[in-house]
Amino acid sequence: MKNKIEEFKKQLEGKETKDVLDFFLNELDINIALASSLGAEDQVLTDLMYEISSDANIFTLDTGRLPKQTYDLIERTNEKYKKNIKVFFPQTDKVENLVNEKGMFSFYYSIDERKECCYIRKIEPLKRALSSLDVWITGLRREQSVTRGEMQLIEWDAGNNLLKLNPLIEWSEEEVWNYIKNNNVPYNKLHDNGYPSIGCEPCSRAVEEGADIRSGRWWWEDPEHKECGLHIKEKK
Ligand code: SF4
Repeated sequence: MKNKIEEFKKQLEGKETKDVLDFFLNELDINIALASSLGAEDQVLTDLMYEISSDANIFTLDTGRLPKQTYDLIERTNEKYKKNIKVFFPQTDKVENLVNEKGMFSFYYSIDERKECCYIRKIEPLKRALSSLDVWITGLRREQSVTRGEMQLIEWDAGNNLLKLNPLIEWSEEEVWNYIKNNNVPYNKLHDNGYPSIGCEPCSRAVEEGADIRSGRWWWEDPEHKECGLHIKEKK
């Protein structure tokens, strides 16, 4: 797939998001899935993908530390589209070792320990989920944070050895929410309580109106460290 990136970029230049998704979901014979965090952007993609392809593959990661509102959202989404979002879990023995050795809140102690928790609960399950795919779809937008400024619509994910498609890369936050309201897309109720970005319950919090949308995630760390590793770019 890597050698197809430039060709895809030319073919898709100026195309609407729906057409980009239609191309990847219906015109290519590939294994492709949306890795959904159940955030607003991924809910937009879920709506678009189920409309374009009835057997669209969508999965999420249950870290074991998600807020109740996120589990509610999985149920509401499955009910609306009459589909089942596939759920990947961390390896039991790894979580048991982490918690038994370091306690329930090791991620607050240092960046390394936070990354260790993210690796066990998110990265390893994600890598397992991605291992059978040719392309993974994400809901990343360029304006989301200082760590995401260089992202492209289509890019090579060297760390996971597959192509990464970011169909909403140019969307604004306003466009995302307009789509959700206009299409009655289910969304996480925590968004109504001041949470622009929602991850694990102990690592997400509400922010003041107008604050950086990622500032409620791992708020005790500097902005340049604020990725769990799911979208860190490896150069190869
Ligand atoms: S976001 Fe927090 S609780 Fe969730 S995996 Fe990362 S460190 Fe662990």
